[in-house]
Amino acid sequence: MAIHERAIIEAVSGLGFAGNEEGLIPAFGLYLTKHFADYYNRISYALLGDFIRRAPELEEDARALLIEAGRVCSFHTFGGIMTSVEWDAVVRPMIESREDWVLGMVAVVNALGWGRWEVKSLEANERLVLTVHDSYEATGYVRDYPRAKEPRCYLAAGGVAGLMNLVYQGDITARPTFSEAYYLEIFRSPRTFAARETRCLAMGDSCCEIVAERDPI
Ligand SMILES: [Zn+2]
Repeated sequence: MAIHERAIIEAVSGLGFAGNEEGLIPAFGLYLTKHFADYYNRISYALLGDFIRRAPELEEDARALLIEAGRVCSFHTFGGIMTSVEWDAVVRPMIESREDWVLGMVAVVNALGWGRWEVKSLEANERLVLTVHDSYEATGYVRDYPRAKEPRCYLAAGGVAGLMNLVYQGDITARPTFSEAYYLEIFRSPRTFAARETRCLAMGDSCCEIVAERDPI
């Protein structure tokens, strides 16, 4: 294992993200947000609850939009992180293979407070299986809503698909520019990665599991 997760978590945790005099957090080439997980959860679950009760025909679209938000988030946030000076200083020296870009990014995620991501298997250029313990989406859901019939970690699922796209569908190692054109090129490709959440704490499973694979041709 080239990637030392504990060292990465300690380094990233020490960066001390905080608002500047304008209240903004510029980092990794974008603006980070720091707010209550409940705030995000209430918005997304209200969309799927109250709103969809009034317009049930839009349920699939609503779910797809929440996952798309995760894909766009990962494109800019993970992309920005993996081309940052902090990445170059802390993670890049450990990297020995393209797969290490995935493992390194997962280690950084584990410093961000989203839950504990753990790569269970990674098939180069094809498939990633990852578990999330204490996903903030699922723990918030479990506290406030009855047991779900479907998985609820939309941002995480979109994020995992996005990570695979950045590493294998695009080429993060070439330090691309994160433009809309580049987003469309790698996320709208017929062979783009899609993620399914196969287990979820919100459904009563012991943890969440997300599988990212290329869309079938
Ligand atoms: Zn989940």
